[in-house]
Amino acid sequence: MEYKVGVISGDGIGPGVVAEAKKVLDHVGEKYGHTFCYTEILMGGVSIDATGEPLTDEAIEQAKASDAVLMGSIGGNTQTSPWYQLPPNLRPEAGLLKLRKALNLFANLRPAYLYEELKEACPLRDSIIGDGFDMMIMRELTGGLYFGERETKEIDGVMTAKDCLTYNENEIRRIAKRGFDIARKRRNKVTSVDKANVLDSSRLWRKVVEEVAEDYPDVTYEHMLVDNCAMQLVKDPKQFDVILTENMFGDILSDEASMVTGSIGMLSSASLNDTKFGLYEPSGGSAPDIAGKGIANPIATILSAAMMLRYSFDLDEEASAIEQAVKQVLKDGFRTIDIMPQDESEKQWVTQIGTKDMGNKICERI
Ligand code: NAD
Repeated sequence: MEYKVGVISGDGIGPGVVAEAKKVLDHVGEKYGHTFCYTEILMGGVSIDATGEPLTDEAIEQAKASDAVLMGSIGGNTQTSPWYQLPPNLRPEAGLLKLRKALNLFANLRPAYLYEELKEACPLRDSIIGDGFDMMIMRELTGGLYFGERETKEIDGVMTAKDCLTYNENEIRRIAKRGFDIARKRRNKVTSVDKANVLDSSRLWRKVVEEVAEDYPDVTYEHMLVDNCAMQLVKDPKQFDVILTENMFGDILSDEASMVTGSIGMLSSASLNDTKFGLYEPSGGSAPDIAGKGIANPIATILSAAMMLRYSFDLDEEASAIEQAVKQVLKDGFRTIDIMPQDESEKQWVTQIGTKDMGNKICERI
């Protein structure tokens, strides 16, 4: 099969890590008989330099014409880069918000997976970690509190601020369906997280999730209150498969879940709409402090490419091949600088390598 992949290399470490992800995709393509055709799309600082805007209409059209978009990262040093002297709507990050909106990317997926070899980076006790954990946080991305009506005004001489949290049943249904679909590709369990003991929006959330669950008899599901979920993530993370939740709860829980896995250089993510289209990107930023040094960890971007194969192209076997190769590279003792052990005595068991070498070693193991 031939797949059209839009590529946003972006700024900082972006071009370097995206080059490695493309290398891995091409390697998978050769092995399994697929062709990936890339179209470079300008976004972020590079787009500002070239066109005066962080994302042009032409770039949006290029993204829409792709089957999926793979992205590195955008932005520069927020203290020193001239991009941050521009008005907010012309800064690099405005491009990403505009793209998410233009493509209606309402579902954000962030896996939190603990690699056996990187257990040391996990702040939890060994007895809690056990054999490790593997969960997916599915966050609604375009509704709820962050997009509701808001105002700040003086009422009877007292400054008062208001933010509205609104969800309609269609918004809940489409993300719930996505969550159950994703669970079917994993371990068939959904934990729907809400605050139904207090919020009307959560009570509607719960009702709609229950309706959707009826169409997925093979997937077990449970409801959990968000305060309990925040505790359970550090008490017993192994219990989770897919955590399905609304925008603000997901914002907070996904950071908590990723923190317990260790390095930012390992964390992939996806944003999906109601077609097979998705935007796939590492969770980290453009890391201007290490840009151009050839030392950035490309694994988060490579794993994002694996998510693209699984969720946009239904190439589950090929995605697993990449994920297994990443595990094997870690088992074989290769590390980029960000995932080197802190403990001096542990360093003798591993070899530090750069961005390109990491890409090559992963290809060799596919
Ligand atoms: P950052 O994630 O870029 O960097 C934080 C720290 O993590 C740095 O020390 C960096 O070196 C390290 N790091 C990040 N990714 C790494 C990797 N792959 N390998 C090794 N080390 C890695 O966050 P920041 O410094 O707060 O932001 C820098 C720029 O990135 C800003 O302009 C910010 O707006 C932008 N940003 C963009 C995105 C995006 O493109 N989606 C996301 C977050 C931040």
